[in-house]
Amino acid sequence: MKLIPVLPAALWCVAAFAQTIPDTHEKLVPTLWVQVSVEWRALAVQAYRNARMSLDAALKDRKWTAALEQSGSYRKLPPAIILDIDETVLDNSAAQARQVLARSGFTVDGWNEWVREAAAAEIPGAADFCRYAAAKKVTVFYLSNREAGSEADTRRNLQRLGFPLAGGSDTVLLKGEQPDWQSEKSTRRKAVADRYRVLLLVGDDFGDFMPGVRTSVEKRREMSNANGERWGRQWIMLPNPGYGSWEAALLEPERPATPLEQLWKKESWLRTK
Ligand SMILES: [Mg+2]
Repeated sequence: MKLIPVLPAALWCVAAFAQTIPDTHEKLVPTLWVQVSVEWRALAVQAYRNARMSLDAALKDRKWTAALEQSGSYRKLPPAIILDIDETVLDNSAAQARQVLARSGFTVDGWNEWVREAAAAEIPGAADFCRYAAAKKVTVFYLSNREAGSEADTRRNLQRLGFPLAGGSDTVLLKGEQPDWQSEKSTRRKAVADRYRVLLLVGDDFGDFMPGVRTSVEKRREMSNANGERWGRQWIMLPNPGYGSWEAALLEPERPATPLEQLWKKESWLRTK
């Protein structure tokens, strides 16, 4: 009976706590922005419309190349474009939504299951743009850090959405297909640039454009500024608020941190002035 006067106070505390700290997930807002907002869709459409204009300009200009890895006499090579897959041509926000609802983080098992479903949606404007390029006899390469073993499912997903997949040669270049094809995409860009003039790079992550992006926030900005003229011309960036090498740059990769420590580390980057 002694507990009776204490209980209402305890319940009040719980209610107050619940009001100030809602049960939510770090990816709730970015996932909703991608899935619901007109703003995200417009940015994607805008990027691919921009890409189409750049492609037309690039086809007319034999000196034009988008790949830093392109060297030698490339002017007479056949034209190609290189697109990343995830969050560039395929929208995986549904996989992220599952994490939000389950209050879980990224897991390899969860991701592999999602890839096997081949159910990713199209990034608005992407398939149309790729078909436009293919119609102009430009070979469309998809260069992704999906694992080599997921190629059949990835192709199935791309095919279902109407993306052009050239017959004859492999245009879906995944991680691990060759011993030197690791997360760093530069070797794969080089492999394309050896045989084609690379007109455009399209991606959602700095690593889709340059090597060595897994470095500090400051260094990344310097690298981007040094190539500032390329954005919107040879390099087309899609908006991905959910994840990327930018996020890893906030943390200390050499020091594994708990999810809570990671959150604190991210908060320490917030600017209040
Ligand atoms: Mg991507």
